[in-house]
Amino acid sequence: MSNEHTVMDLPSLQRPEIVAEVERSRARIDRAFTEIFSGYDLKAEDVLNEVVSVEGYTGHIAVGDISFYSYCGHHFAPFFGTATVTYTPRRIITGLGKLVRLVRDVHAKRLQIQELMTRDIANDVMRVLDAEGVRVVTRAKHLCMCSRGPGDDNAWAEVVYEAGTPIGDAGNQASS
Ligand SMILES: [Zn+2]
Repeated sequence: MSNEHTVMDLPSLQRPEIVAEVERSRARIDRAFTEIFSGYDLKAEDVLNEVVSVEGYTGHIAVGDISFYSYCGHHFAPFFGTATVTYTPRRIITGLGKLVRLVRDVHAKRLQIQELMTRDIANDVMRVLDAEGVRVVTRAKHLCMCSRGPGDDNAWAEVVYEAGTPIGDAGNQASS
């Protein structure tokens, strides 16, 4: 885009061949973004809603390579990658697929910043499952960094967020 145009001029820059389609695109875009940002209609309690009691459980549980698609709140550009959620339960566990939904449906489907999304997933596991400890690792490519700006399409970002007793230490602590 040249300096003569702003983002608001984009519709008028549309190719003449598909101008007739643009009207229909409004509804199409509306449906797409309603789905992309559907996480605002969900909270952790809605998906971490089936639990099993496990008193005295000292091991940890991990669900890895959970793929997610999200949107950068800075640039309104997609970022996407994988997450691994590991937690040590204190008294209850949840279904493995529930952690997948927590990442993909509740948190990724919002305008996000990877660092804060990673923290919020961890805090939800601590709060809703009353976990002993949690570790969340996300690794993502940001189109705001790959396709513009620095323009490096190889670069990825990894964020690690831990809360509570460090993973792997729960059994040691229980026996000490
Ligand atoms: Zn960005």
